[in-house]
Amino acid sequence: MSTASLMEHEDIFDILRKLASVPTVTGYEQNARETIKELLSGYVDDFWTTSWDNSVAVINPAGKKRLLFAAHVDQIGFIVTSIDESGYLKFSPIGGWDARVAYGSKVTVITSKGSIRGVIGTIPPHLMKEKEKKIDFKELVIDIGVDSKKEAEEAGVRVGDYIALHSEPELIGKHRVIGSGMDDKAGLASIIYAARMLATRKNELGDISVYFVATVQEEIGLRGASMIGYELKPDVAVIVDVTHAKSPETKEIAFVELGKGPVISIGPIYHREITESLIEIAEKHGIMYQREADPRGAGTDAWAIQIARGGVKTGLVSVPNRYMHSGVEMVDLRDMFNLARLLVEYSVSMKI
Ligand SMILES: [Zn+2]
Repeated sequence: MSTASLMEHEDIFDILRKLASVPTVTGYEQNARETIKELLSGYVDDFWTTSWDNSVAVINPAGKKRLLFAAHVDQIGFIVTSIDESGYLKFSPIGGWDARVAYGSKVTVITSKGSIRGVIGTIPPHLMKEKEKKIDFKELVIDIGVDSKKEAEEAGVRVGDYIALHSEPELIGKHRVIGSGMDDKAGLASIIYAARMLATRKNELGDISVYFVATVQEEIGLRGASMIGYELKPDVAVIVDVTHAKSPETKEIAFVELGKGPVISIGPIYHREITESLIEIAEKHGIMYQREADPRGAGTDAWAIQIARGGVKTGLVSVPNRYMHSGVEMVDLRDMFNLARLLVEYSVSMKI
């Protein structure tokens, strides 16, 4: 791409592209472990993975207080439930899906013999009767281009194989990226980029250790975050996820916009001190940001981390995302860049 503005964020796009190219359906996050490690290598002081594949990196591990940045690495997907005699795969969703959005998509089946391509078959409009227009997962199958169950099994397919939407992330317009799993690879890429920037300012951290975690199993109940909140015992946590951006379809219910900056959540589960200092730091450094009121807060890892052990002072910062939980989720690289800047300035100015 030739535009100057895009070149500006080429490095953050490169991180996102690498993360998004690895399918990490909930339960199969270990697929991204090496990629995450490589992306952080040379920037952090230590890196390890836990029993359930949360990936943990730390800068300045000798600090007395612990600041945690976490973004989930898992993405919604499917699992093979049976293979019929003609070689079609029946499947069930993992995470929050709308069957209409999955219909007609290309998928990757992660088999015992490697990844194979398939499609979620459709009924041609010519043949669809009015009463059939409601689409339900129970009626959908994945076609992997074989003619029999035997052939599917020979290709390596087994009941229990994970399936991801197939999508290579793509640049669109000057600053935006489309693809599946931007929830929450966009957040994860932002914290990895923040780690890279923070590595050059380590001497400003004083007594603060900064942990960067790619959490697992967010999409089925914040399970990785529950483990990490206990294990790392952070003093402060800032969770990084995506939030619904305004589009013609969501304008009555979503209020933040793509390209207008990271979104700071305000609501009961987000600690006042954290929220206020995130806002103060954004303003002090001229970092564009948006405010979002969140009266309930149940949808992200912040929900689990907040109540880990005796309670963790928790905040939430999000990347605006259009068309969430589809194969065409859209995010803006400028929001990710500004989010990373915010985390870095927050880390170096932190007093706990
Ligand atoms: Zn998410």
